[in-house]
Amino acid sequence: MNVDPGATPPDETPQPGVSAEPAAAVDPSVAPSADHSADACAAPQPDSVTDRDRHFMRLAQAAADEARAAGEVPVGAVLVRGDEVIATGFNHPIGTHDPSAHAEMAALRAAGAALGNYRLPGCELYVTLEPCLMCAGAIMHARISRVVYGARDPKTGACGSVVDAFSNGQLNHHTSVMGGVLETECGDALRSFFAERRRASREARRAAAEQATDASAGAPSDDNPS
Ligand SMILES: [Zn+2]
Repeated sequence: MNVDPGATPPDETPQPGVSAEPAAAVDPSVAPSADHSADACAAPQPDSVTDRDRHFMRLAQAAADEARAAGEVPVGAVLVRGDEVIATGFNHPIGTHDPSAHAEMAALRAAGAALGNYRLPGCELYVTLEPCLMCAGAIMHARISRVVYGARDPKTGACGSVVDAFSNGQLNHHTSVMGGVLETECGDALRSFFAERRRASREARRAAAEQATDASAGAPSDDNPS
């Protein structure tokens, strides 16, 4: 599955791709859960999926839906500080002719503007697809504390699928990473998008072929004996 967020053909729908959302309170029913019931002999689990993680990932999925509505590969991101959503972003490189307009970049830019700081320590970034190398670099520069992603990206993933930028101690001093949160749902959104695009492409080719057949059937023949 190619999930390169910039892989779709041009779409002219202009979309800002960004919305700052000051002080959106988290649903109290999804407060952090103490899900550490493993027995004392088990290896310590530094990071396990909580209801809070799933809650914010669902917001990132909603942002991905905005990308899809704009004709872009559906990837969405939400930047969070504590239980406050600072910014959301969705993938939109095609409409903006901007190769850097990935969901993470949009959320980082909006959050930096909202907080008046290019560094975002103490913030977490939720994104529906494993970040690429570009986004991993920006996440490190912003000093994001934690990245949580949904589907893995075997083509361009920079959190272990292709390379693992965050495991390099010379590069990364600030960011922990957790993948696979709502992985199936996040992946399904991408798979259905590409399936729909392939179906539309097949229909377009079939329509073009039928048009060509009709045109040749109706054309005057030039091998008419005279
Ligand atoms: Zn990226």
